[in-house]
Amino acid sequence: MMSSQLVSIPTARTINYLRVSITDRCNLRCCYCMPEGGVPVMPHDEILSYEEMLRLIGVFVQGGIRKVRITGGEPLVRKDSVDLLGRLHQMPGLEEVTLTTNGVLLKEFAAQLKKSGVSRLNISLDSLKPERFARITRRDRFEDVVAGIHLAESLGFDPIKINVVMMRGVNDDEIGDFFRLAKERPYQIRFIEYMPVGAANSWDPAQFVSSKEIYETISQFGRLEPLEAGMLDGPARCYRVVEGAGQIGLISALSDHFCERCNRLRLTADGQLRTCLFSDAEVSLKAPLRQGGSDEELLDLIRLAIKNKPKGHGLQRVRPEACLRQMSRIGG
Ligand code: SAM
Ligand code: SF4
Repeated sequence: MMSSQLVSIPTARTINYLRVSITDRCNLRCCYCMPEGGVPVMPHDEILSYEEMLRLIGVFVQGGIRKVRITGGEPLVRKDSVDLLGRLHQMPGLEEVTLTTNGVLLKEFAAQLKKSGVSRLNISLDSLKPERFARITRRDRFEDVVAGIHLAESLGFDPIKINVVMMRGVNDDEIGDFFRLAKERPYQIRFIEYMPVGAANSWDPAQFVSSKEIYETISQFGRLEPLEAGMLDGPARCYRVVEGAGQIGLISALSDHFCERCNRLRLTADGQLRTCLFSDAEVSLKAPLRQGGSDEELLDLIRLAIKNKPKGHGLQRVRPEACLRQMSRIGG
Protein backbone atom coordinates (compact mmCIF):
# COMPACT_ATOMS: atom_id res chain seq x y z
CA MET A 1 0.00 0.00 0.00
CA MET A 2 1.23 3.51 -0.76
CA SER A 3 1.25 5.25 2.63
CA SER A 4 -0.28 8.71 2.69
CA GLN A 5 2.87 10.42 3.97
CA LEU A 6 6.60 10.04 4.33
CA VAL A 7 7.41 7.10 6.58
CA SER A 8 8.76 8.02 10.03
CA ILE A 9 12.01 6.51 11.28
CA PRO A 10 13.50 6.04 14.77
CA THR A 11 14.82 9.10 16.57
CA ALA A 12 17.57 7.66 18.79
CA ARG A 13 21.01 9.15 18.11
CA THR A 14 23.70 6.48 18.35
CA ILE A 15 26.91 7.71 16.74
CA ASN A 16 28.08 4.58 14.91
CA TYR A 17 28.79 5.72 11.35
CA LEU A 18 31.97 7.38 10.05
CA ARG A 19 32.45 8.80 6.57
CA VAL A 20 36.09 9.03 5.58
CA SER A 21 37.16 11.21 2.67
CA ILE A 22 40.43 9.76 1.39
CA THR A 23 41.17 12.40 -1.25
CA ASP A 24 39.97 15.83 -2.34
CA ARG A 25 40.77 15.06 -6.01
CA CYS A 26 38.13 14.15 -8.52
CA ASN A 27 37.78 13.20 -12.19
CA LEU A 28 34.39 14.96 -12.51
CA ARG A 29 33.35 18.57 -11.87
CA CYS A 30 29.70 18.26 -10.78
CA CYS A 31 28.06 21.66 -10.92
CA TYR A 32 26.62 21.39 -7.39
CA CYS A 33 29.90 20.26 -5.83
CA MET A 34 32.88 21.89 -7.52
CA PRO A 35 33.58 25.01 -9.55
CA GLU A 36 34.32 24.38 -13.23
CA GLY A 37 38.06 24.94 -12.80
CA GLY A 38 38.21 22.59 -9.79
CA VAL A 39 39.55 23.60 -6.38
CA PRO A 40 43.21 23.90 -5.35
CA VAL A 41 44.25 20.43 -4.23
CA MET A 42 45.61 19.87 -0.75
CA PRO A 43 49.40 19.47 -0.51
CA HIS A 44 50.40 15.81 -0.43
CA ASP A 45 51.88 15.93 3.08
CA GLU A 46 48.65 17.41 4.48
CA ILE A 47 46.76 14.29 3.43
CA LEU A 48 46.72 11.38 5.87
CA SER A 49 48.55 8.27 4.74
CA TYR A 50 46.55 5.03 4.69
CA GLU A 51 48.45 3.88 7.79
CA GLU A 52 47.37 7.04 9.61
CA MET A 53 43.77 6.59 8.45
CA LEU A 54 43.71 2.96 9.56
CA ARG A 55 45.05 3.89 12.99
CA LEU A 56 42.45 6.65 13.42
CA ILE A 57 39.61 4.45 12.18
CA GLY A 58 40.70 1.76 14.68
CA VAL A 59 40.33 4.36 17.44
CA PHE A 60 36.91 5.39 16.13
CA VAL A 61 35.87 1.73 16.30
CA GLN A 62 36.93 1.68 19.96
CA GLY A 63 34.64 4.71 20.34
CA GLY A 64 31.60 2.88 18.94
CA ILE A 65 31.85 3.30 15.17
CA ARG A 66 30.46 0.20 13.40
CA LYS A 67 30.12 1.40 9.81
CA VAL A 68 32.68 3.20 7.64
CA ARG A 69 31.99 4.74 4.25
CA ILE A 70 34.96 5.62 2.08
CA THR A 71 34.35 8.71 -0.03
CA GLY A 72 36.22 11.61 -1.65
CA GLY A 73 36.56 13.65 -3.88
CA GLU A 74 36.54 10.55 -5.96
CA PRO A 75 38.00 7.76 -3.79
CA LEU A 76 38.95 5.50 -6.71
CA VAL A 77 41.39 8.11 -8.09
CA ARG A 78 43.63 7.67 -5.04
CA LYS A 79 46.24 5.00 -5.62
CA ASP A 80 45.61 1.70 -3.80
CA SER A 81 42.22 2.78 -2.44
CA VAL A 82 40.93 -0.77 -3.00
CA ASP A 83 43.66 -2.12 -0.70
CA LEU A 84 42.56 0.30 1.99
CA LEU A 85 38.98 -0.93 1.63
CA GLY A 86 40.18 -4.53 1.89
CA ARG A 87 42.11 -3.78 5.08
CA LEU A 88 39.07 -2.06 6.57
CA HIS A 89 36.97 -5.07 5.68
CA GLN A 90 39.32 -7.13 7.90
CA MET A 91 39.21 -4.68 10.82
CA PRO A 92 37.74 -6.29 13.95
CA GLY A 93 34.65 -4.48 15.24
CA LEU A 94 33.65 -2.95 11.92
CA GLU A 95 30.35 -4.39 10.72
CA GLU A 96 30.02 -2.53 7.42
CA VAL A 97 32.50 -1.04 4.96
CA THR A 98 31.01 0.80 2.01
CA LEU A 99 32.16 3.01 -0.83
CA THR A 100 30.63 6.08 -2.46
CA THR A 101 31.95 6.60 -5.96
CA ASN A 102 31.01 8.48 -9.10
CA GLY A 103 31.46 5.17 -10.93
CA VAL A 104 33.80 6.50 -13.63
CA LEU A 105 36.55 4.00 -12.68
CA LEU A 106 34.31 1.16 -11.54
CA LYS A 107 34.88 -0.88 -14.71
CA GLU A 108 38.55 -0.93 -13.78
CA PHE A 109 38.19 -1.64 -10.07
CA ALA A 110 34.89 -3.48 -9.50
CA ALA A 111 36.38 -6.99 -9.63
CA GLN A 112 39.22 -6.09 -7.23
CA LEU A 113 36.75 -4.38 -4.94
CA LYS A 114 34.59 -7.47 -4.80
CA LYS A 115 37.66 -9.58 -4.03
CA SER A 116 38.64 -7.20 -1.23
CA GLY A 117 35.37 -8.10 0.51
CA VAL A 118 33.51 -4.85 -0.12
CA SER A 119 30.07 -5.55 -1.51
CA ARG A 120 28.07 -2.41 -0.73
CA LEU A 121 28.31 0.43 -3.22
CA ASN A 122 26.78 3.88 -3.62
CA ILE A 123 27.20 5.21 -7.14
CA SER A 124 26.30 8.78 -8.06
CA LEU A 125 24.31 9.25 -11.26
CA ASP A 126 22.17 12.36 -11.62
CA SER A 127 20.79 11.76 -15.09
CA LEU A 128 19.95 8.86 -17.38
CA LYS A 129 20.57 11.09 -20.42
CA PRO A 130 24.19 11.16 -21.63
CA GLU A 131 24.25 14.83 -22.75
CA ARG A 132 22.62 15.99 -19.55
CA PHE A 133 25.03 13.91 -17.48
CA ALA A 134 27.89 15.63 -19.32
CA ARG A 135 26.39 19.07 -18.59
CA ILE A 136 25.95 18.32 -14.87
CA THR A 137 29.36 16.71 -14.36
CA ARG A 138 31.19 18.77 -17.02
CA ARG A 139 32.76 15.52 -18.26
CA ASP A 140 31.68 13.06 -20.94
CA ARG A 141 31.84 9.85 -18.86
CA PHE A 142 28.22 8.63 -18.86
CA GLU A 143 28.99 5.38 -20.69
CA ASP A 144 31.79 4.54 -18.24
CA VAL A 145 29.51 5.02 -15.26
CA VAL A 146 26.69 2.95 -16.74
CA ALA A 147 29.10 0.17 -17.73
CA GLY A 148 30.49 0.27 -14.16
CA ILE A 149 27.02 -0.11 -12.67
CA HIS A 150 26.21 -3.07 -14.96
CA LEU A 151 29.50 -4.73 -14.12
CA ALA A 152 28.93 -4.21 -10.39
CA GLU A 153 25.51 -5.82 -10.72
CA SER A 154 26.86 -8.80 -12.65
CA LEU A 155 29.59 -9.30 -10.03
CA GLY A 156 26.95 -9.53 -7.33
CA PHE A 157 27.42 -6.26 -5.44
CA ASP A 158 24.46 -5.95 -3.11
CA PRO A 159 23.08 -3.48 -2.40
CA ILE A 160 23.81 -1.14 -5.29
CA LYS A 161 22.57 2.31 -4.36
CA ILE A 162 22.33 5.06 -6.95
CA ASN A 163 22.62 8.61 -5.57
CA VAL A 164 20.64 11.23 -7.48
CA VAL A 165 20.87 14.90 -6.47
CA MET A 166 17.54 16.35 -7.55
CA MET A 167 17.58 19.88 -9.03
CA ARG A 168 14.56 21.71 -10.40
CA GLY A 169 14.90 22.59 -14.04
CA VAL A 170 17.96 20.33 -14.32
CA ASN A 171 16.85 16.72 -13.78
CA ASP A 172 13.51 16.82 -11.94
CA ASP A 173 11.76 15.61 -15.11
CA GLU A 174 13.60 12.28 -14.65
CA ILE A 175 11.96 11.21 -11.37
CA GLY A 176 9.69 8.83 -13.32
CA ASP A 177 12.60 7.40 -15.32
CA PHE A 178 14.59 6.74 -12.14
CA PHE A 179 11.50 5.16 -10.56
CA ARG A 180 11.18 2.84 -13.57
CA LEU A 181 14.86 1.93 -13.18
CA ALA A 182 14.17 0.95 -9.54
CA LYS A 183 11.23 -1.09 -10.77
CA GLU A 184 13.28 -2.99 -13.32
CA ARG A 185 16.66 -3.39 -11.63
CA PRO A 186 17.53 -4.39 -8.03
CA TYR A 187 18.95 -0.94 -7.22
CA GLN A 188 18.07 1.46 -4.46
CA ILE A 189 17.58 4.85 -6.11
CA ARG A 190 18.35 7.50 -3.50
CA PHE A 191 17.02 10.96 -4.19
CA ILE A 192 19.12 13.53 -2.32
CA GLU A 193 17.94 17.07 -1.67
CA TYR A 194 20.25 19.65 -3.19
CA MET A 195 22.24 21.21 -0.32
CA PRO A 196 23.89 24.61 0.07
CA VAL A 197 27.44 23.41 0.72
CA GLY A 198 30.78 24.87 -0.27
CA ALA A 199 31.91 28.45 -0.62
CA ALA A 200 32.06 28.33 -4.43
CA ASN A 201 28.70 26.61 -4.73
CA SER A 202 26.01 28.47 -6.60
CA TRP A 203 23.14 26.95 -4.61
CA ASP A 204 19.85 28.43 -5.70
CA PRO A 205 16.67 27.94 -3.62
CA ALA A 206 14.67 27.93 -6.86
CA GLN A 207 16.41 24.65 -7.81
CA PHE A 208 15.55 22.96 -4.55
CA VAL A 209 13.14 19.99 -4.77
CA SER A 210 11.98 18.55 -1.43
CA SER A 211 11.74 14.83 -0.66
CA LYS A 212 8.03 15.34 -0.09
CA GLU A 213 7.60 16.61 -3.63
CA ILE A 214 9.70 13.74 -5.01
CA TYR A 215 7.57 11.26 -3.06
CA GLU A 216 4.38 12.79 -4.42
CA THR A 217 5.72 12.72 -7.97
CA ILE A 218 6.71 9.06 -7.63
CA SER A 219 3.25 8.19 -6.40
CA GLN A 220 1.94 9.15 -9.85
CA PHE A 221 4.08 6.38 -11.37
CA GLY A 222 3.65 3.48 -8.97
CA ARG A 223 3.37 2.19 -5.45
CA LEU A 224 5.89 2.26 -2.61
CA GLU A 225 5.90 0.33 0.64
CA PRO A 226 7.85 1.76 3.63
CA LEU A 227 10.81 -0.29 4.88
CA GLU A 228 12.03 -0.37 8.48
CA ALA A 229 15.25 1.57 9.07
CA GLY A 230 18.14 -0.51 10.42
CA MET A 231 20.55 0.66 13.13
CA LEU A 232 23.26 1.60 10.61
CA ASP A 233 20.99 3.12 7.98
CA GLY A 234 21.16 6.75 8.99
CA PRO A 235 18.61 9.25 7.86
CA ALA A 236 17.39 7.85 4.51
CA ARG A 237 13.71 6.91 4.36
CA CYS A 238 13.49 3.72 2.34
CA TYR A 239 10.68 2.13 0.39
CA ARG A 240 10.24 -1.06 -1.58
CA VAL A 241 8.89 -0.60 -5.08
CA VAL A 242 5.72 -2.69 -5.11
CA GLU A 243 5.90 -5.26 -7.91
CA GLY A 244 9.41 -4.09 -8.68
CA ALA A 245 12.99 -5.29 -8.20
CA GLY A 246 14.41 -2.30 -6.35
CA GLN A 247 13.87 0.35 -3.74
CA ILE A 248 13.59 4.10 -3.38
CA GLY A 249 15.45 6.13 -0.73
CA LEU A 250 14.66 9.73 0.15
CA ILE A 251 17.31 11.85 1.87
CA SER A 252 15.83 15.07 3.13
CA ALA A 253 18.93 16.86 4.36
CA LEU A 254 17.20 20.22 4.29
CA SER A 255 13.45 19.86 4.50
CA ASP A 256 13.41 17.48 7.45
CA HIS A 257 15.13 17.94 10.83
CA PHE A 258 16.96 14.64 10.75
CA CYS A 259 19.66 15.99 13.07
CA GLU A 260 18.12 14.27 16.10
CA ARG A 261 18.74 10.89 14.45
CA CYS A 262 22.00 11.77 12.68
CA ASN A 263 24.38 8.93 13.50
CA ARG A 264 27.41 10.13 11.53
CA LEU A 265 30.83 11.67 11.90
CA ARG A 266 33.14 12.75 9.07
CA LEU A 267 36.90 12.50 8.79
CA THR A 268 38.44 14.63 6.05
CA ALA A 269 41.45 13.56 4.00
CA ASP A 270 43.59 16.04 5.94
CA GLY A 271 42.61 14.55 9.27
CA GLN A 272 39.89 16.92 10.48
CA LEU A 273 36.93 15.52 12.37
CA ARG A 274 33.59 17.13 11.50
CA THR A 275 30.57 16.25 13.57
CA CYS A 276 28.07 18.04 11.32
CA LEU A 277 28.17 18.40 7.54
CA PHE A 278 26.87 21.94 7.85
CA SER A 279 29.16 23.17 10.61
CA ASP A 280 32.70 24.32 9.95
CA ALA A 281 33.71 23.47 13.52
CA GLU A 282 36.48 20.89 13.03
CA VAL A 283 38.73 19.04 15.46
CA SER A 284 42.19 18.25 14.17
CA LEU A 285 43.09 14.62 14.75
CA LYS A 286 46.09 14.88 12.46
CA ALA A 287 48.04 17.13 14.83
CA PRO A 288 47.85 14.86 17.90
CA LEU A 289 48.30 11.79 15.67
CA ARG A 290 51.51 13.15 14.14
CA GLN A 291 52.75 14.44 17.50
CA GLY A 292 52.70 10.90 18.90
CA GLY A 293 49.35 11.03 20.75
CA SER A 294 48.20 7.77 22.30
CA ASP A 295 44.98 5.96 21.32
CA GLU A 296 43.46 7.09 24.64
CA GLU A 297 44.24 10.74 23.87
CA LEU A 298 42.74 10.45 20.40
CA LEU A 299 39.69 8.67 21.80
CA ASP A 300 39.20 11.44 24.38
CA LEU A 301 39.22 14.03 21.58
CA ILE A 302 36.72 12.00 19.56
CA ARG A 303 34.43 11.54 22.58
CA LEU A 304 34.55 15.26 23.35
CA ALA A 305 33.69 16.09 19.72
CA ILE A 306 30.75 13.66 19.82
CA LYS A 307 29.55 15.30 23.06
CA ASN A 308 29.62 18.66 21.30
CA LYS A 309 28.00 17.40 18.09
CA PRO A 310 25.42 20.04 17.19
CA LYS A 311 21.84 19.14 18.05
CA GLY A 312 20.68 20.66 14.75
CA HIS A 313 21.97 22.55 11.74
CA GLY A 314 19.20 25.18 11.55
CA LEU A 315 19.29 25.07 7.77
CA GLN A 316 15.57 25.59 7.57
CA ARG A 317 16.76 29.22 7.75
CA VAL A 318 18.80 28.50 4.70
CA ARG A 319 21.98 30.47 4.11
CA PRO A 320 23.55 30.22 0.68
CA GLU A 321 26.97 29.39 2.12
CA ALA A 322 26.08 27.06 4.92
CA CYS A 323 29.55 25.66 5.23
CA LEU A 324 32.75 26.85 3.71
CA ARG A 325 34.66 23.63 3.13
CA GLN A 326 34.00 22.39 -0.39
CA MET A 327 31.78 19.28 -0.58
CA SER A 328 34.52 17.49 -2.53
CA ARG A 329 36.74 18.01 0.54
CA ILE A 330 34.16 16.63 2.96
CA GLY A 331 32.83 13.66 1.05
CA GLY A 332 29.08 14.20 1.15
N1 SAM B 1 32.85 11.48 -5.83
C1 SAM B 1 31.99 10.57 -5.17
C2 SAM B 1 30.58 10.67 -5.70
O1 SAM B 1 30.26 11.66 -6.36
O2 SAM B 1 29.81 9.76 -5.43
C3 SAM B 1 32.01 10.70 -3.66
C4 SAM B 1 32.05 12.08 -3.07
S1 SAM B 1 30.59 13.06 -3.35
C5 SAM B 1 31.01 14.55 -2.51
C6 SAM B 1 29.43 12.25 -2.29
C7 SAM B 1 27.96 12.54 -2.55
O3 SAM B 1 27.70 13.91 -2.25
C8 SAM B 1 27.54 12.33 -4.00
O4 SAM B 1 26.43 11.45 -4.05
C9 SAM B 1 27.14 13.70 -4.45
O5 SAM B 1 26.09 13.65 -5.38
C10 SAM B 1 26.71 14.36 -3.15
N2 SAM B 1 26.75 15.82 -3.20
C11 SAM B 1 27.79 16.62 -3.52
N3 SAM B 1 27.43 17.93 -3.46
C12 SAM B 1 26.12 17.96 -3.09
C13 SAM B 1 25.17 19.01 -2.85
N4 SAM B 1 25.49 20.30 -2.98
N5 SAM B 1 23.92 18.64 -2.48
C14 SAM B 1 23.57 17.33 -2.34
N6 SAM B 1 24.42 16.31 -2.53
C15 SAM B 1 25.68 16.61 -2.91
FE1 SF4 C 1 33.48 14.71 -7.81
FE2 SF4 C 1 31.63 13.46 -6.38
FE3 SF4 C 1 31.91 16.13 -6.23
FE4 SF4 C 1 30.95 15.08 -8.45
S1 SF4 C 1 30.00 14.97 -6.41
S2 SF4 C 1 32.57 16.65 -8.32
S3 SF4 C 1 32.04 13.19 -8.56
S4 SF4 C 1 33.38 14.64 -5.57
